[in-house]
Amino acid sequence: MRILLLIAIGLLLYVIISKLIRQTRPPQIQSDSETMVQCHYCSLHILEQEAIRKGDNYYCSAEHRDLED
Ligand SMILES: [Zn+2]
Repeated sequence: MRILLLIAIGLLLYVIISKLIRQTRPPQIQSDSETMVQCHYCSLHILEQEAIRKGDNYYCSAEHRDLED
């Protein structure tokens, strides 16, 4: 009966580990989210994720965001 218990624990560990591996894998949709936006102050093109957003406008740096005021 001890062997059955070991097999059950082994199976449980296998399921947990394979689930963890699936969760830590980086998502493949990253290239889709790389949208280019234009700085509202100097018209420089920057990645949306790197841009500083203020309302509906994007800025390449905090400096340009503040200069716009
Ligand atoms: Zn700018």
